[in-house]
Amino acid sequence: MNQDCLFCKIVSKTVQSKILFEDENLIAIEDINPQAPVHLLMIPKVHRESAMDLLESDQALLGSLFLRLRDLAQEKGVGKSGFRVVLNTGKEGGQTVDHIHFHLLGGRGLGWPPG
Ligand code: 5GP
Ligand code: ZN
Repeated sequence: MNQDCLFCKIVSKTVQSKILFEDENLIAIEDINPQAPVHLLMIPKVHRESAMDLLESDQALLGSLFLRLRDLAQEKGVGKSGFRVVLNTGKEGGQTVDHIHFHLLGGRGLGWPPG
C-alpha cells in the first residue's frame, strides 16, 4: 500500500468506487470518466507503478488478470461484439495514475489507430 496512491486507496476502500469484481489479488471498477459504454479498470491490488515495474513473480497475477478480463467482457455483453484492453504506460503512453491498471473498453466501434 502506497499512502499517496489513488488506486491503493480504492483497493483499501478509503476511496469509494463501483466495484465489479474482486478477489485476493485484483479489483475491477467502473472508470469514473467512461470513454465508451463499457469502460472498466482492472487493478492489481499490489502497488506496481507501471508495466515497467512488473516482476518475474507477477506472471501468475497477470495470467489470472487476463482471464478475469475475459469474464468481465462476457458479463458486460461485449465478449462477442469485441472490446479493447489498454495498458497506458508512462507520460507519453497517457498514464495518469501511477498504479498499474488495465482499461477494458467496448460497446462502440473504437477505431484504429488511436489518436
Ligand atoms: P490512465 O490515464 O492512468 O491510463 O487511466 C486512469 C483512469 O482512471 C482514467 O480513465 C480515469 O478516468 C480513471 N480515474 C481517475 N480517478 C478515478 C477515481 O477516483 N475513480 C475511478 N473509478 N476512476 C478514476
Ligand atoms: Zn498504488
